[in-house]
Amino acid sequence: MSAALAYAPPADTNAALYSRVSRVIPPLEWPAFADDVAAINRLKRQRNAVILAHNYMTPEIFHCVADITGDSLALAREAQNVEANIIVMAGVHFMAETAKMLNPAKTVLIPDLEAGCSLASSITAADVRRLRQRYPGRPVITYVNTSAAVKAESDICCTSGNARKIVESLGVPEVIMIPDKYLAANVARETGVKIISWDGACEVHERFTARQIRSLRADNPGLVVLAHPECPPDVVDEADFAGSTAAMNDYVTTRQPGRVVLITECSMADNVAILHPKVDFVRPCNLCPHMKRIGLGNIRAALENLQHEVIIDPAIATKAREAVERMLAI
Ligand code: SF4
Repeated sequence: MSAALAYAPPADTNAALYSRVSRVIPPLEWPAFADDVAAINRLKRQRNAVILAHNYMTPEIFHCVADITGDSLALAREAQNVEANIIVMAGVHFMAETAKMLNPAKTVLIPDLEAGCSLASSITAADVRRLRQRYPGRPVITYVNTSAAVKAESDICCTSGNARKIVESLGVPEVIMIPDKYLAANVARETGVKIISWDGACEVHERFTARQIRSLRADNPGLVVLAHPECPPDVVDEADFAGSTAAMNDYVTTRQPGRVVLITECSMADNVAILHPKVDFVRPCNLCPHMKRIGLGNIRAALENLQHEVIIDPAIATKAREAVERMLAI
């Protein structure tokens, strides 16, 4: 047996947790996580806190300390129902704001206040007001990857999982859909509704190229390609299926492809691969630098010090919540 395989994690609290991630975290790396994992799980009980973790969190967060996991839509839905006093958002800032606006009585903490998003930073509330002046009468559909102030200027929100449904639910011939130009372009191809978009993009998904997908197929016979709709349309065209991270997970769960690639953020494949040992995952790795600001160390610090509370101006929160709740009602 090699030295690596000879390592046995502590039998007291962490052995069962390590077994969840042993397929993607080598035994020799686990001691670097074990202390924080044990401390965070203890602190959660002491503080009456829960951790919501996005699909792009690394496996030691996603599988070892998170209480609720999912894509933006799932986290928004679940945030409404949290009964614990404290929500720690293992995700980026707009997700923490969404949790706060949907469950305002709770203390919402984000481990790093600088965990932003290239989509959220691409547009301001003033930009939305200018769009309304330029295109009067068109409803504004805002992707959840935006600040509360931008949501507050919107008629309704959407996620990558429900964007087409939201567009068509409004019963109008033309809508403004912000801020992701690629999501808007991908939805526009599926619907008869005309879409006015904005020049924002996810810095992770826009880096994928159609040529890269063809190359992956050439190198990996039988490869099934699942792409996120934040990818450029020519990338989506090369895919076998396009959908949100939740839809990708469902695809792998129900169809069990022999070999698959998830054209999305890097950690997603790790988290899904753990659950599907018979599926071969090809893993090109585009990391989100914002998601990767969140780690066990700052989650622990957030819980120890009750730091980095997310506060939203009540007037903005009320209007933003209405836009999110209109989406959740559909
Ligand atoms: S992956 Fe893209 S959309 Fe998601 S937080 Fe990072 S930059 Fe924003």
